[in-house]
Amino acid sequence: MNTFSFLEKAALYRGDQTAIIYGNERTSYAEFREHSLTIAGNLLQLGLSAGDRVAFCMANNPRILEVIYACFAAGLVVVPINARLHPKEMAYILDNSGAKVFIHGSEYHKGIVENIAVFPNLTARVCFTKEEGTIAFDELLDSTNSLNCAVEIEGDEPCWLFYTSGTTGKPKGAIWSHRIIRVVCMNYLADLHNIQPGEMVLHAAPLSHGSGIAALPAIARGATNAIYDQTSFDPKSLFETVERLSVSHIAFLAPTQIIKMLEDYRADKFDLSSLKAICYGGAPIHVEHLKKAMKTFGPIFIQLYGQGESPITISGMTSEQHKTLLAANDPRIGSTGTIRTDVEVRIVNDNDENLPQGEIGEITVRGDVIMQGYWNMAEATANTIRQGWLHTGDIGMFDDKGYLYLLDRSKDVVITGGNNVYPREVEEVIMQLPGVVDAVVLGIPDDYWGEAVHAVIIKEPRSDITAKDVIDHCSNSLAGYKKPKGVDFVTEFPISGYGKILRREIRAEYWKNHEKTIGGSVKLGTEAQL
Ligand code: AMP
Repeated sequence: MNTFSFLEKAALYRGDQTAIIYGNERTSYAEFREHSLTIAGNLLQLGLSAGDRVAFCMANNPRILEVIYACFAAGLVVVPINARLHPKEMAYILDNSGAKVFIHGSEYHKGIVENIAVFPNLTARVCFTKEEGTIAFDELLDSTNSLNCAVEIEGDEPCWLFYTSGTTGKPKGAIWSHRIIRVVCMNYLADLHNIQPGEMVLHAAPLSHGSGIAALPAIARGATNAIYDQTSFDPKSLFETVERLSVSHIAFLAPTQIIKMLEDYRADKFDLSSLKAICYGGAPIHVEHLKKAMKTFGPIFIQLYGQGESPITISGMTSEQHKTLLAANDPRIGSTGTIRTDVEVRIVNDNDENLPQGEIGEITVRGDVIMQGYWNMAEATANTIRQGWLHTGDIGMFDDKGYLYLLDRSKDVVITGGNNVYPREVEEVIMQLPGVVDAVVLGIPDDYWGEAVHAVIIKEPRSDITAKDVIDHCSNSLAGYKKPKGVDFVTEFPISGYGKILRREIRAEYWKNHEKTIGGSVKLGTEAQL
C-alpha cells in the first residue's frame, strides 16, 4: 500500500475542505491531491524512476507537503533538508543520498552557485524562480504530465530519508518505508493525540523535521494544516495566528520555542482558548519550564520522545498524564512518560545485557517504527541496530512504575573522577534557583578530575545571582561530585535549526586547545540516584 492513500482518502471524503492554509493561500484536499499527482508526473517525466531520491530545501510553505506527497505518489524517496543548513552541508546530503533532483527556495540559489564545485551531478535542480541552470518550480505544475493515481508500491519500499542533525558526526539518512510511516501515523493517532477531521493544526516548527512527520496523521484524518508563515519563530505572531485561525493543536514545538512563548505571553492580550493540544519534544525540557508552561497555557501538553531512527515515538506523555502528575506534584513529570503501545524498550549495559529496573543504561528499542537502517552506511547501521534492537545512544532508566527517564545522550555525560554525572539532573536543580532562565551543564577539561562539572547559565536581566550562589544552591541537593566546580554566565545559547541547544558547540569552546574531547568513558549499569 502506498502512503499516498492517506491523501487519496482525505480528498475523496473531504475534497472541498481546506487542507492547507498559508498566509492568504488556501488549498483544498482536492487541490492538494491534484498538485501532488501533477508534481509526481513531472518528476517522473524528468527521467526519474521508482526508488530515486528527490531532495528539497525550503522554508515552511505548502509546497513541502505537496512535494512529499508527490514523491509518495510517484514511488520516489523524499529527502527533506533542514532549511538552515550551509550549502556545503546540503551538498553532502545530496551526495550521500544520491539525489537526482533538488528542489529549493530561491533564497538558496546564490549560495548553491557559489559552492557548486562541491555539489554532485543532478538530473535537475528546481528553483522557485527561474534561475540559470535550474528549472522553475512552476514547470512541475504542468498538468499535461499529471498522474491519474499513485503508483503501486510495496509497503517495505523506502519513501523518506530522514537526515539526523549530525551532532555526533556527519548526518546519516534514516530510511523510512511506506509501512514505517503508516505505522507512525496510526500510532500517533492512537497513543498521543487523536486528531479529528477538520481540526485546525498549526505547524510552527520546520516541516522538514518533527512538524512534517506530525502533518502526516493530520492529513490522514483530513484536518486543516495551517503553516506558520514567519521566517523565524516569533511567539507574538504565533499567538495571533492561534487566535485568528482558532488553532486547536500545535503539531510540534521544541522546548526552546515553549520557553520563548512563556517570555512573550500576556493573558490580557491573546485569547488562546481554542488551543487543546501542544506536542513537544526533540530535546529535554526542564521541569520548571514545563510546570510554568502548564500553568500559563493549561494542561494541554503532550510529550514525544523519539529520534529520526525511531520516529514519533519511543515513549510519550499524554496531556492527561501531564495533568495528573502535575496535580500530584509527582516527579514523573520530569520523565519522558510511558512506552508506546507498539514498541518495546530495554535498558542495556555495554555488553547489551538487560539491566534491572532502576539501573542506568542505553535505551534500546524494537518495533515496527524502527528505521530500516542508514542510507549507504552499512557499518553505522550494523552498529546501531543489533539483534533487531535499535541502540538510541540515549542514556536512561525506568522507575518502578515503568516511566522512562532520559538522562542524556551518552556523548553528553560528564565523567569526573571516574563518576558519571548526568547534566540534566544538575540542570534541573540549577533551574530551581530564582533568576535562572536556562542552564547547560557540561564537562570541561580538568587536570585532576579529567573532566570538571561546569555550568553555563542565562540569568534574568536584572538578576544578581553569582557563581557562588549557584554552587551553594547545588550543594543543598546534590552529591559533592555532581555540583558545578565553575559557572559562566552568557546571554544566549547556540540553537540548531530544529530548536535544539547546541551543547557540542558550547562544549567545543572549552575543549578547543585540548587533543582529547572527553575525559573518560561512560559506565553503564549503575544505580540511578535520582
Ligand atoms: P532527532 O533525531 O534530531 O529528532 O534527535 C533525537 C534525539 O533528541 C533523541 O535521541 C534524544 O536525545 C532527544 N530527544 C528527543 N525527544 C526528547 C524528549 N522528549 N526529551 C528529551 N530528549 C529528547
